[in-house]
Amino acid sequence: MIREDAADFIRLQKENNCYRQLSSPREKKSGGEAVFFCDFSSNDYLGLSSHPALQEAAEKAVKDFGAGSTGARLLSGDNRLFHELEEKTAAFKGKPSALIFNSGYHANVGMISSLCGPGDVIFCDRLSHASMMDGILLSRARFFRFRHNDAAHLESLLESRRKSFRNALIVTESVFSMDGDIAPLRKLTVLKEKYDALLYVDEAHATGVFGENSAGMVEECGLTSKVDILMGTFGKALGSFGAYAASEKVFIDYFINKARSFIFSTALPPSVIGANLAALEVVRKESFRRKNLLERVLYFRNRLRKLNIPVSSFTPIMPIILGKEEKALDISLRLREEGYFLPAIRFPTVPRGQARLRLSLTYLHSVEVLEKFSEKLCNILKDSA
Ligand SMILES: *Cc1c(COP(=O)(O)O)cnc(C)c1O
Repeated sequence: MIREDAADFIRLQKENNCYRQLSSPREKKSGGEAVFFCDFSSNDYLGLSSHPALQEAAEKAVKDFGAGSTGARLLSGDNRLFHELEEKTAAFKGKPSALIFNSGYHANVGMISSLCGPGDVIFCDRLSHASMMDGILLSRARFFRFRHNDAAHLESLLESRRKSFRNALIVTESVFSMDGDIAPLRKLTVLKEKYDALLYVDEAHATGVFGENSAGMVEECGLTSKVDILMGTFGKALGSFGAYAASEKVFIDYFINKARSFIFSTALPPSVIGANLAALEVVRKESFRRKNLLERVLYFRNRLRKLNIPVSSFTPIMPIILGKEEKALDISLRLREEGYFLPAIRFPTVPRGQARLRLSLTYLHSVEVLEKFSEKLCNILKDSA
């Protein structure tokens, strides 16, 4: 029964052009000769994944502490690198305390599910990442989704629903992963005060890219003290892997004692923590990376608009919404033939009928590459219109 259902599901995914396959931007041709695609899908916004400082720090950590952590943090898995990283992360984010999670997925699932329970209520942006949604479902709190970036809709939900519940939590991303747009953070901080809720912000795509100290969009907006729990990852702009929470000490203590994804999983290996420490250092010392990237975002945005390719984003994530899943697949395939890697993003990552190319810029894309690419993209889009 389960086997037949699985086969049926796969068949349906194929019929709906939603079937997913693994494919790498570093593929091998049949002849064995390696082909490198020009990657426009990566989250390595600052190019740190190939930075020698991160690689050397990872190697040194392996030599000093071994290849694996040997256990969960609360058992044998802890070491001084974690504490150093947590101190530096707290300082980086401007909060009293921080905690490392194995991934952003672990962080969102673990924290959101432990902050609320039956009798509580969670309000979340409709387009919040799957890991936040899973945390919400696991919490067994009631939840309401507000229209994307629509603070007025959130307020009407708070107005009508808040009073029937004990605790309330508002969750959002700061820079949205698939749309590259920015949450109305200031309004959310006003609403959370007015309706006695906690505010939880996922900075996965903002960490390292925005803010005077590269801490994220919340820093950029001057709202650090108003957001109760800041979450972000080391796997995107910071070039390595893992995630963090930054908050008051009471919440960090609470997560150590309550978040199941923290308690019941082997701690990250020393190499990763070493690389993350180096990443924070590089972000601090090489702020030109983030500044160059943001200049290039504006340059590329203007260029695409001149070519009549509608992009509205001011962040490195610039989706080109194509609608039908089939169309997104077709254009992605044609770009691949030209040597560009941009997988089609489809349901359930984005709503049905809003299939897109999720174009992301990084520090490593030169102006020449951007020029050539935008022309190719323009021709292919025209061709398939
Ligand atoms: C990538 C992402 C996560 C998950 O982080 P991982 O470290 O990759 O598990 C969570 N939230 C958002 C918004 C993301 O884009």
